[in-house]
Amino acid sequence: MTKKRSSFNINIPYGLRHPATGSKNTNNDVAFDNMAEIKRRAIIKAAIVPFVLVLGFCISIIIGSCHNEKPVVTDEEKKPEKPVVVKSNTIAKPKSKGVDLVNPVRPAPAKFPRNSKMPNKRERDVCGEIVNGKFSPGRDLIFVTDSRVWWESDNDGVSDDECDHSMHRAMEIPFRRLVNLVEAQTKLQLRVQEVYRPEGIHSEKSLHKEGRAIDMTLGYKNGEKLKTAAEMNEAYEQLCKLAWQAGFDWVFYEYGSGSGPHVHASIKATGPFLTDKTK
Ligand SMILES: [Zn+2]
Repeated sequence: MTKKRSSFNINIPYGLRHPATGSKNTNNDVAFDNMAEIKRRAIIKAAIVPFVLVLGFCISIIIGSCHNEKPVVTDEEKKPEKPVVVKSNTIAKPKSKGVDLVNPVRPAPAKFPRNSKMPNKRERDVCGEIVNGKFSPGRDLIFVTDSRVWWESDNDGVSDDECDHSMHRAMEIPFRRLVNLVEAQTKLQLRVQEVYRPEGIHSEKSLHKEGRAIDMTLGYKNGEKLKTAAEMNEAYEQLCKLAWQAGFDWVFYEYGSGSGPHVHASIKATGPFLTDKTK
């Protein structure tokens, strides 16, 4: 009886005895077929194993690439970052050219009573005489503005043709620093009452005639004046301290003069300058 071959049976190579039957396979064709079958299976295995390995490798790459995909970006996230905007009401903010216009240059004096001055010397001994023959309005005066400041000449109609924005170029740095200090340290508004005035109300040697002196007060941010004497006194004493800290060379808490209480501050003509028309 011919034994039916199964693909799972172990074929007996030629010349070997069957361990169960002890019969010897002498059929050369069958043996050849068996050998061919073994080779065929070996070839298939040899082909399948690398195929499976390659397939597995490809799957792992696909899975990996899925995990590495960039997350879905919403339209909101696609928007570019908004730039940091520093809130400022300043119009035509000047370039500081490396000059610190924000921080005080001197410590605040402990007190600054009415009719006192810093330093406690005559103004002309600190800031220099007006009669030096060197002042030139075209060269030395500059136009300074800042929307945080209340300017008298912008609010007094046509009754007065003065321009309080005209100041000596040496005043720009301490003035702009003072505006920032008032903004940072008070809830009030700086009011510029008087700066350059070549003729009229001031004395012969007043530094206002060179735009080197400025008269200032403080008021409410809605443009109104302070209401009580006590309020003014406290505010103007603080303004004197801030003017000194801002770098004015001479600060005077002027009280009892015909113009009413105010802070008079002045500077030397020598600078430094933020805006210099000679360059
Ligand atoms: Zn003055």
